[in-house]
Amino acid sequence: TGDDLDGKPSRFHALMMFTKVYKSLSLQKKFQVAMRSMVKHGRFLEDEMLVLHYVSDVGSQELGEKMLPELLLDATFRYEVVFHNVDALTEKLFPIVEAMQKHFSAGSGAYYSDAIFFLSVAMHRIMPAELKHIVQLDLDLKFRNNIRDLFQEFNHFPVEAVIGIAREMQPVYRHTFWQYRKENPKSYVGDPPPDGLPGFNSGVMLLNLEAMRHSTLYNQLLEPERVARLAEKYHFRGHLGDQDFFTMIGMEHRELFYPLSCGWNRQLCTWWREHGYGDVFQLYYHCDGPVHIYHGNCNTPIPDD
Ligand code: UDP
Ligand code: MN
Repeated sequence: TGDDLDGKPSRFHALMMFTKVYKSLSLQKKFQVAMRSMVKHGRFLEDEMLVLHYVSDVGSQELGEKMLPELLLDATFRYEVVFHNVDALTEKLFPIVEAMQKHFSAGSGAYYSDAIFFLSVAMHRIMPAELKHIVQLDLDLKFRNNIRDLFQEFNHFPVEAVIGIAREMQPVYRHTFWQYRKENPKSYVGDPPPDGLPGFNSGVMLLNLEAMRHSTLYNQLLEPERVARLAEKYHFRGHLGDQDFFTMIGMEHRELFYPLSCGWNRQLCTWWREHGYGDVFQLYYHCDGPVHIYHGNCNTPIPDD
């Protein structure tokens, strides 16, 4: 799954949102943990290269350029760093995702700047056609295993799948789909694993850009009328951006998504346990098997090991 560009080494692409980092010490700390653990466990073959993409504002890019040489010092693999300007990407993205923002953004959802929270949804239209696979990662992660193994998961995608993503590990979508669940008491929408559909978490995503470009169904689902129709059917009103969109279309078209095992995005946030869902919380939070990546979401501290 390393993308071979005419004779150049096999390249593995990873992208992180990296905005407003220059003014947040807490984001800088998360960035250090993510990069140090990625470097510590990262192993690639000799002719391979990890390409690290950061979507940044000018201030964060300057900080990133200052911090990365030291963070990557002990890397045993070849790498390349690419910065993408957040404003330039937003300009391309806005026309594609504008119509869905009102369903999946906080507040009015009309804000131009919110479009970037939907980057993954339209990444296949933004990135050059030569780029066929990319992994999008949050900053609040800690690797316990080789990131190269994550890319190998692309090889397990069934034919119709376009995105690999782990389930959401809190009952947040049980809450969001409350009305639909009441009207459809036999449905699995919002139910816990293993049989239910708890929705997705966007902290770790495998985007098969080539498959996203070629999937007629996926591209139809980006059309404003299709999104509006589904949002109405499910009474969906969210504020979590791309992960809301993927969760909603996943209820209708499971075949588009390859379910990553929970160990690839072991979320640690327990907010919903204390907010009305204590009785069912463990059913969602539970994750068996090895943890490859910890995700300290909602600012949850990550265990030392
Ligand atoms: N992010 C960013 N700047 C910000 C806030 C968030 O670049 O000011 C990026 C960062 O990559 C982060 C991701 O957006 O990991 C998602 O936010 P966060 O992880 O805080 O959300 P959570 O996982 O807690 O829901
Ligand atoms: Mn996160």
